[in-house]
Amino acid sequence: MESIRAYRFRVYPDARRQREIDEQIELARFLYNKLLERAKEEYLKDRNLQITKSTFNRFMKEIVKGNAELNRLYSQALQNVFVRLQRAYQNFFRRVREKRSGKKTNVGFPRFKKYGRYSSITYPQFGFSIESKTKRHNRIDVLRVSKIGTMRMEMHREIVGKTLTLTIKRDGDEYYAIVSASSESTAQKIENANPVGIDLGLMNRENIMGNFAVLSDGAKIKKPDFAKMQEKRISHWQKVVARRHKGSRRREKARERLHDAWRKVNRQNDDFAKKTANDLVRSGHTSFAVEALHIQNMLKNHRLARSINGAAWNRFIQVLSYKAEDAGMRIIPVDPRDTTRMCSACGAVRAIPLGERTYSCAVCGLRVDRDINAARNILHRSTAGHAGIQARGDPASLHPETDAKAGPSKREHTFGPGNPGLKGSPGL
Ligand SMILES: [Zn+2]
Repeated sequence: MESIRAYRFRVYPDARRQREIDEQIELARFLYNKLLERAKEEYLKDRNLQITKSTFNRFMKEIVKGNAELNRLYSQALQNVFVRLQRAYQNFFRRVREKRSGKKTNVGFPRFKKYGRYSSITYPQFGFSIESKTKRHNRIDVLRVSKIGTMRMEMHREIVGKTLTLTIKRDGDEYYAIVSASSESTAQKIENANPVGIDLGLMNRENIMGNFAVLSDGAKIKKPDFAKMQEKRISHWQKVVARRHKGSRRREKARERLHDAWRKVNRQNDDFAKKTANDLVRSGHTSFAVEALHIQNMLKNHRLARSINGAAWNRFIQVLSYKAEDAGMRIIPVDPRDTTRMCSACGAVRAIPLGERTYSCAVCGLRVDRDINAARNILHRSTAGHAGIQARGDPASLHPETDAKAGPSKREHTFGPGNPGLKGSPGL
């Protein structure tokens, strides 16, 4: 089975190449906004009109014609701007359709990208290569990008399979290369003899007990101690940013500090996710059922604690997905409805208040920890004839801009490409 995985490596462009990358990003953002403006005009004329690929293409030609500086944008990066906008546009119309069919969903026209909200360029196919040199017995990896030049790359793991795309991303004052590659999964499928359900109880309620996850076998994974610290640091810098005058240098400084704080959160979440996923894959369980939730919504949650939890949760699922895949195991997303309210023994549904730690069933008499009850329901749904999907790497990482905007802000907390939403993942 073919799977696509994204690898994120830090790169070290020199000052000249940094300027080059920054300029390319800004040109791409400019084009994106111009194209969106045109699309919006058309949309306001006729709200049912879906703009076709060829119309977008025509808009793009017109815009490039009227803005000579866009000739400096590399053709590969230019093509990708178009792809990103089209994806945003399709998502928008999908949500409109969902809303019409009665689903509760927020539908907003794709937004213009402010400075810092569009922070990468993508080479969809060609124009880059990765080379390794040996210098005094040390291996040095170099990324060569057409028109930009070469830069040292910190390649902490080997790329497996055929490389597909390259995205160069700016994150504060750091630069990253995100390489996607496809490969045939060679892992032997193992028999699903010991499945487990995982309740990540972060979505609909406060995490009273400080558990990061609870398993259907009763095991509890504690929330790391750093979570509280993270929250304090971020909320501090958010307040400072809000207090300072828009456009002022002092506000910019504070924004950088806020960005650093988020970056630190992402790193810590990353380490925690890797360790936890490793433990789980080695625990003897053979598949992992989780609720298929709308992670994007959670990431955009206005409440800081939840968006931090959301980030950790999201990263964990990604890492678990690819580690499970490597081991020939599956992640199985299940319908999240009533997992907390349903009795895992007899299927009766009852309301359970937030503070109630024990689920007790009036029908069959079951008494069990509420999170374990939820995890058991999740497990049942994965085994009761529900078709699972093969776990995958994090294909969502291939589209860092549309799936996760760069840079934190007061309302939307989003994450670098190592940590985007799971929109692109099958079933999740
Ligand atoms: Zn019952």
